[in-house]
Amino acid sequence: MKLVIEKLSKTYPGGVRALDEVSLEIPRGMFGLLGPNGAGKSTLMRTIATLQEADSGSVILEGSQVAGRIDVLQEKERVRGLLGYLPQEFGVYPRTSAVRLLTHLAALKGVGRNGRERAEVVDRLLERVNLSDVKHKGVSTYSGGMRQRFGIAQALLGDPQLLIVDEPTAGLDPGERNRFYNLLAEVGENIIVILSTHIVQDVKELCTSMAIIDRGRVLASGSPLDAEESLRGKVWTRTMSKQELQQRDWAYPILSSKLVAGLPSVRIYSEEEPQGGWRSAEPDLEDVFFSRLSSSHS
Ligand code: ADP
Repeated sequence: MKLVIEKLSKTYPGGVRALDEVSLEIPRGMFGLLGPNGAGKSTLMRTIATLQEADSGSVILEGSQVAGRIDVLQEKERVRGLLGYLPQEFGVYPRTSAVRLLTHLAALKGVGRNGRERAEVVDRLLERVNLSDVKHKGVSTYSGGMRQRFGIAQALLGDPQLLIVDEPTAGLDPGERNRFYNLLAEVGENIIVILSTHIVQDVKELCTSMAIIDRGRVLASGSPLDAEESLRGKVWTRTMSKQELQQRDWAYPILSSKLVAGLPSVRIYSEEEPQGGWRSAEPDLEDVFFSRLSSSHS
């Protein structure tokens, strides 16, 4: 099973070209859509989730055992039958308990043939996202991480083949983020999961394939490990004073600068060994991200 996106474009009425001939092949497993704010991630996710129209291009789901071939942009009802979606803003969190709210959503989605079956599905899902202990508490009292786990539970109602999660880790603390990663990794084993994020670590830890997008265009796609490997021998690092970092006119593109014990540790891109005491650095996904962004802006 895979999702094939071809030349998908969308321009908003104000003239912003949010998607500019996006073409991607998204296989089964965890797929990371990485890009800065405003890159077009939500537009792409909402289009795949049939909540928004594109201007041109196609999205085809191929090889689903349940449904065969589906033209996602045309056959919206069929897509909705096998889609789970966790939007960036899940909206209001009612005082209703998790178990009641999920039961209600299950009924809306037509899950289960009767009340007893629905109750079983709901209990199983709340167990799976580790909310059983607090299932009778109001969802409005939940922490950010618990809300996101509840969000996954509702997205998993009806056993989706395609799960779309939009910026799910924004605002989570490290412990909650880890719990959320574990949950998603387990879910993503058998279905297509598309995760959008501006956090490089999300993709690094979770995703077997990814794309980097910016200003509506795909800048890179493939496996995160291959992308890192493509930068081997081209990333250099050095610690310097803040003044030096600000004053110098850099001959090489700066990938990132982070404070290490109060001093900027700078990483640059250069195909040859640069002058001036730089050490070769192990490339990481963050270097890939920033090198693609900076070359597309220059
Ligand atoms: P991301 O999810 O990567 O932050 P979005 O898809 O939300 O990106 O937005 C891509 C671009 O389209 C941004 O420049 C944004 O301001 C613009 N945009 C998004 N939604 C709308 C809309 N409904 N009307 C007009 N412009 C929009």
